[in-house]
Amino acid sequence: MKYADAHCHSNPIEGLGAREIARRFKKHSGWFIALVSLPPYHYGYTELSIESYVKSIELLIREAKSIREEGLEVRVLAGFHPAEVDEYFRRGASLEQIYELADKVFKLITSYHEKGLIDGMGEVGRQHYSTAPQRLVLSELIMLKAFEYAKDHDMIVHLHLEQGGWITVRSIEELIKLSGISKERVFLHHVDYETSKWAETHGFWYTIPAKQRILKKTLTEKQRHRLLVESDFIDDPRRPGVSSYPWDIPQRINELIEEGVVEKSFVEKIMIEHVKKAYLL
Ligand SMILES: [Zn+2]
Ligand SMILES: [Zn+2]
Repeated sequence: MKYADAHCHSNPIEGLGAREIARRFKKHSGWFIALVSLPPYHYGYTELSIESYVKSIELLIREAKSIREEGLEVRVLAGFHPAEVDEYFRRGASLEQIYELADKVFKLITSYHEKGLIDGMGEVGRQHYSTAPQRLVLSELIMLKAFEYAKDHDMIVHLHLEQGGWITVRSIEELIKLSGISKERVFLHHVDYETSKWAETHGFWYTIPAKQRILKKTLTEKQRHRLLVESDFIDDPRRPGVSSYPWDIPQRINELIEEGVVEKSFVEKIMIEHVKKAYLL
């Protein structure tokens, strides 16, 4: 059995960093990681400027290189997380300034994409927690902007969203029409069970967190053609319980296989076939 992590972060400044993550994941039969950027201030680039994004994208590319050097396949995504909207607003930036910064960041990501160094956009989307309505609207506008760039340059997009089931999926279905981006390129990340069902029937790729309950429920349902599994590891030793480790994916799924709950061939399909199709490997 080979295992893939469809959405993972690394932080070489504060945490293990990608090389160590790749080594440990490989020991647990890992073959692929989709590496997603963290907000620049997580890496210690606290200045509110495009320069902080240049530094974090450069760091992200070095991290992806380390994963490749350890013998794993990797896809690299950089974005503008809805939490960044709140963070910069808190620091005194206007909504207009934040929107302009996001646009510059997307231009920057696109230029790296053209050099073959970045594969897609992520994370962008909407806050999953309560925030001021105008900041939610801004986050949505930023997501629409990301769709435009992604459509024009054929990039994949990882969406961070509220877990609202039908309304979450239906609204994305409507919003992607505005840019004309293909559903094939749009991923709903960290979905709950209810949202995963709507994502499946609407034909979006989606990633479920590697938690025992949702793994058990979804991996026993055969009508799952868009399912992917993620750790959403944030590599922050100060917040150890926030997400899973990439190696929790093989460990937890192997347990389910051993218990006879989940079929090995189905897991194989998700970990190889789905990943190759979703990430164009
Ligand atoms: Zn997220
Ligand atoms: Zn994430």
